Amino acid sequence: MASGFSRVSLSLGLGAFLALSGVAAAADEAGSTGKLVRFRFTEPAQLDALNTSGLYEVVEVKGDTAIAIKSPAASRAVSAKRVALAEANLLGLETVLEDVDDQLAPFRAAGNVGAYHTYAKALAELAELTAKYPNLLKGESIGKSHGGRDLMAVRLTGSAGLEAEKPKVLIFGLMHAREWISAELPFYLLRHLLANYGKDPEVTKVVDNLVIYILPVSNPDGLEYSQTNYKMWRKNRSPQQGGIGVDVNRNFPIGFGLGSSDNVGSDIYRGPSPKSELETRAFCSLFEREKFIASLSFHSYSELILYPWGYDRALPPDSAELTKRGQAMAKLNGYTPGQVSRILYTAGGATDDTFYKTYGAWSYTFELGQQFVPPDSQIEPICKQNLPAVMLFLKTAIDTSRPSTGISLADRPKISNFFSLYDIYPLK
Ligand SMILES: [Zn+2]
Repeated sequence: MASGFSRVSLSLGLGAFLALSGVAAAADEAGSTGKLVRFRFTEPAQLDALNTSGLYEVVEVKGDTAIAIKSPAASRAVSAKRVALAEANLLGLETVLEDVDDQLAPFRAAGNVGAYHTYAKALAELAELTAKYPNLLKGESIGKSHGGRDLMAVRLTGSAGLEAEKPKVLIFGLMHAREWISAELPFYLLRHLLANYGKDPEVTKVVDNLVIYILPVSNPDGLEYSQTNYKMWRKNRSPQQGGIGVDVNRNFPIGFGLGSSDNVGSDIYRGPSPKSELETRAFCSLFEREKFIASLSFHSYSELILYPWGYDRALPPDSAELTKRGQAMAKLNGYTPGQVSRILYTAGGATDDTFYKTYGAWSYTFELGQQFVPPDSQIEPICKQNLPAVMLFLKTAIDTSRPSTGISLADRPKISNFFSLYDIYPLK
C-alpha cells in the first residue's frame, strides 16, 4: 500500500520514536502539552495494542491510519517493562510524525476559554433557563464530583399528557474534559426546544411526548482543570494510587478492562474497579431510577455516530435496529455511523454499552467536529449541523419499543404513546 504521508514520513521504530518524544515531553513540562502522533497499522490487533499501551490515546482512525495523543504524564508513569511490551506489540508499525502545532495551539493559550462554557457559566445558564421556563424545566443535581461540584441536569417536559406515561431520554456532554464543544450542543438543543415550544409543531410534540434530561457538563472537575491548567486533560480529577484521574468513559461495568489502561498515567486509565467513580455511580443511579429508553452523548472529535458494542467486535443483539437508527441520523449531519469496536477500536467500560446492555436504552454517541476545541466561529455551525440528527433521535425515542437487552419486561414502565409520533415521523 502506498504511503500517503511521504511528505513528512519518518520511518522509525517505536523505540526511536519514544526516545524522540521523550525529549519533546521534557520540553513540554511547562505547558504540559501532549503530542499528536500518526500511526499506520496493518491489522486491528495493532490498533488495540496501541490504544491500550498506556502510552497513547487513539483519537481518530481513518483507514489504516490512527492519530493518537501521547501525554507527558503517561510517559512518566509507564514502566520500562510496559514500554518494552508496547514495542513488541507495535513492532513493524510505521510511525509518522505530523506537524500538529495548529491543532494544539488553541490549547496553549492558557485561560483562553473564548465563547465556550466554563462550569460556572454552565450552572448560571441552567439556573437562568429554569427560572425563565418554570413550567417546562426543572433543575436537578444528579450527584457530585470528587471536587464537590454538582453534576447539574435539567428535566424538560411539556404540559400535555401524563408525565408518568412518557418515555424518558438522556442527553449529555463533556464527559471528557478537553472536549469543550461537547457541552455546547446540549445548550444549543435546550435553547432550541425552549424557544420553539408552543410555536414549532415538531418541537412541541417532542417536548410534550418525552421527558428529556439534559446534562451539559458530566465531568465538571475535569473541565475546570482543562480550562485553567492543562487543556489536553481528559479524565476526572479523583486521586488515585500513583496519580490523578480516571477516564469516566472507561469506568462503566460492561466491558470494564477491555480497550482501556490499568496505568494511572494514561488518558484512558479505567480506574481500580467498575463504578469506582462518583460520576459513574451518579449516571447508573439515574438510569436505575428513570429507566431511560434512549441516551445520546456528545464527545469530540471525528464526525462519527457511534453505537454498541464498544467492548466487543461481535454484533449486538439489536444490531439491525441500532444500525438503522444510526444511519438515519447520519444522513442528517453527514457523519459516519458505525459500531464503535468496528469503526474505531475496542473501548470497554464506556457509557453506551452499559446503558444499552444493563439498562435497555438505545445508546448513541456523536463525535462532534474535527477538533476538541474548534474556533469560536465554529461552535454555532457545528451545533446547527447536528440539530436535525438530534431531533430525529428524540422523535425516534417516542417509539416505545425497547432493545432486547436490559431491564426485564415486568420492570419496564408502562408508556402510552399518546401522539403516535413514530407513525408521523417514520425512519426513512
Ligand atoms: Zn470523548
